[in-house]
Amino acid sequence: MRVAVISDIHGNAHALDAVLAAIDAERVDQVWCLGDLVGYGPQPNRCTLAAAAHADICLAGNHDLGVLGSIAIDEFSPDAAASARWTRSVLEPEAREFLASLQPRRSTPRAELVHASPRDPVWEYVLSAEAAEAALVGTDTQVVLVGHTHVALAVLQAGGQGGSISGGLAPAGKEVDLAKGRWLLNPGSVGQPRDGDPDAAWLLLDFRAGRASFRRTRYDIAATQAEIRERGLPENLAKRLDLGA
Ligand code: ZN
Repeated sequence: MRVAVISDIHGNAHALDAVLAAIDAERVDQVWCLGDLVGYGPQPNRCTLAAAAHADICLAGNHDLGVLGSIAIDEFSPDAAASARWTRSVLEPEAREFLASLQPRRSTPRAELVHASPRDPVWEYVLSAEAAEAALVGTDTQVVLVGHTHVALAVLQAGGQGGSISGGLAPAGKEVDLAKGRWLLNPGSVGQPRDGDPDAAWLLLDFRAGRASFRRTRYDIAATQAEIRERGLPENLAKRLDLGA
């Protein structure tokens, strides 16, 4: 089975369209989405409906839950809180209903999917070796998929449960051999990458070939920035897209 994994779309429809076109060319069997369809970006309705149409599994992220009012937005940064309030004001019933149907965690026989981490599916940022190890210890599938940090990662636990931990950032073109052990993989963010590469990030998982491949797709950043400014969202949300930060 070949699966495209996407995450953290954040209302960036130009990035999502480009990634979905790249995924289409790969003729995958399924698309899995790790959440945060909305927040920050200018096209929450279109991105939510596109995820609903294309994703076989879709999780809820903290921004989705914040926009719905299921979690408080007091802990959000000022830009995140402002965009969450704006998103609430424009979210249409069909998109709201889809977001409300999502959970932050799902299991499949081969992979555990969480928005943030297994011990805290909504909030924990898995960026340290300790957090990655805890994510692997708290699960038993061969692959653990996390989003939330907007940083593409590939962390290996060699030889299975209890084995040594290695790995780290997963830039464009990085390939991993799934047979080496258990893997914690973060595809990076479609709509707001924060690992210094502004191209939209996603992951191609090929369970039959035993490989995972980190992909980046160019998109029209200026078009999304223009929409952010038209809607009066914080200027920093436009600027950071150029930097991948
Ligand atoms: Zn996010």
